[in-house]
Amino acid sequence: MATCKMCRTSIEVPEGWSVGAAVRRHYWAEHPDRMLRSQADRAAESELRRPAPPPTGRATGAGTPSRREPPRTRPA
Ligand SMILES: [Zn+2]
Repeated sequence: MATCKMCRTSIEVPEGWSVGAAVRRHYWAEHPDRMLRSQADRAAESELRRPAPPPTGRATGAGTPSRREPPRTRPA
């Protein structure tokens, strides 16, 4: 779970997403002006047209260990 710096709302991070991707998606939905401005600086046109599609089964556990998740409570 992340918090939007602009509207202070909680941003849910879907499983398999990075926090940055989830935040970006929220920004595109709620604060497109800001995204357009920052993206324009970098001239990342591909990002403009395709706002962070969810990684479906791809790049999961490949080089990036997902240890962000706290251990769930389970019977030992
Ligand atoms: Zn927001």
